[in-house]
This record gives sequence, structure tokens and C-alpha cells, in this order.
Amino acid sequence: MIDSSINPNSQQTISKPVSINGIGLHSGLDVSMKLYPAKVDYGIKFIRKDIAKNNIIEALWSNVTNTKLSTTISNKSGVSVSTIEHLMSALSGLHIDNIKIEIDGPEVPIMDGSSIKFVDLIDQTALQSLNKKRKILKVKKNIKVENNNSSVELKPNKQFSIDFEIDFPSKLINKQSCQLQLVNGNYKTDIASARTFGFERDVDMLRSNGLALGGSLDNAVVVGESKILNSDGLRFKDEFVRHKILDSIGDLYLAGAPIQGYFLGNKSGHQLNNLLLRSLFADKNNYEYI
Ligand SMILES: [Zn+2]
Repeated sequence: MIDSSINPNSQQTISKPVSINGIGLHSGLDVSMKLYPAKVDYGIKFIRKDIAKNNIIEALWSNVTNTKLSTTISNKSGVSVSTIEHLMSALSGLHIDNIKIEIDGPEVPIMDGSSIKFVDLIDQTALQSLNKKRKILKVKKNIKVENNNSSVELKPNKQFSIDFEIDFPSKLINKQSCQLQLVNGNYKTDIASARTFGFERDVDMLRSNGLALGGSLDNAVVVGESKILNSDGLRFKDEFVRHKILDSIGDLYLAGAPIQGYFLGNKSGHQLNNLLLRSLFADKNNYEYI
């Protein structure tokens, strides 16, 4: 179980702009991204600099338009940005409420497949406290979404806690569940460097479907039939489940506020994470802002 005590204090942003370049995991395109400080209650917004009009996309659950292998958000004009979950995870892990993200392409760069490069990027600048209290989304009822053998749940809880279990038909992964506590900023040490992963046997199929075009051993753990293909091996023995937690933290931050509740993920992914937020917001009795 991961426990993250939400800082009940002021909203935060970064103190000066920072920029980063990389390639999109699925598109294979080169992209540059620049993060700017933002004012109170601005939230998190992506600005597509390569598009002249209607180029602002708010990072909210209601704007999620695709969850196939990554999370994509779109605005009403159909302008989108994809693979936002690792950056969103870093912003959640570092308790950043307001930030403007300019990007010159359709996909957030994958970097090393984890969120550590985004954490390091934000560490280049100090965080800035803003003159207004952070609002927190308190879960009031149990909400569960299931699909075949997968499920996600949110339950009332005193803090934001995550419990995750995976079970892959590969002897290199099998069952893993994460049981650790996220306190005192150890998002950075325990979650942020866990990389995304894929199976060698799926690579041709993904590429023929126009996916993972930018994927390589530099930005993903690649699981072969009998061994991990990355020469340096794994960063954690249970890196796979840690990455699923990293993803969930990012997807859940699309709630628009930090969540006070207990999240349980079982063999789930981006699609169920979004359906969970849609169920949560479907009934005002499910939550309150504190
Ligand atoms: Zn991921």
C-alpha cells in the first residue's frame, strides 16, 4: 500500500520556466516541451504550439479521448495531446497544482519511459507557493469499475493510498503487488524511475498498428520469452507494478485535484482509470471538495 499524505497547504507552481526535448513513444516524433509557472486556480493545461488556433487542452478526466496504451486528451476542436500520464504523475507526485505546458507536437516525450526526467526537470527550479489553499477531492462512497478480470476501486480514506496488483502471463513478471508507503517525498525514489514495459512478442504487432514507433530499449523495459532484453536489467525487482502505480497516479490526477481516497487497481490500466473518474463524477454524492 502506498500512503501519500496530501499537503493541506497552499497551491503550488514552479518558480521559473524549464524545458525538455525528446521523442514520442508511439508517434516517434521529436518534440520540445516548456513548462511555465501558472497562477492560482489555473490548473494544468497543455498548449499545442504547432497549432495556431484552439490549441489549449485542459488536463481533465472529461477530456480523455483515447486510452489505448496511453492516455490522450483532446479539446472541443479535436486538438489532442497523448501519452500525458507520466508527466501528470510527476506533477501529482511533486504536488504541483498549476502549470502551463507548451508542446510543439502531438505527444509528450517518453524520455526514459519513467517520470524521473520530469521530476529532475522540475527540480531544476524551486516550487512556488501561491496565495490560496489547495482544494482536495474527498471520496465519500465506494466506486468500482470492472472489465473481465480487471478492476479499479476508490474508497473513502483519510489520505491518498494506492494498492496495486498485476498478473501477467510471463514468468518474468507473474503476480506482483506493491506494498510500500509514499511519504516525505519518496515518490521520487520509489515510483518515479519505474519504466514502462512491453513484450518482445508484441513489438511487430504494435509497429504494424502505428504504435511504439519511438519505442526502444532506451525508453522501455522489453520483456523477452526468457529474459529482460535491457542490458542493465530492472531498476526494481517489482518495477512493473511500480510503473502501473506511476501510471495510475498520473491518470487519477486528471480528477483536477489531489484525491483523498483509497485506490485499488487490479490488472487495470488507463481505460479503467478513466472510467473510474467518470463514475466518481457521475454522482455529486460520491465526493466533496475540502
Ligand atoms: Zn506508463
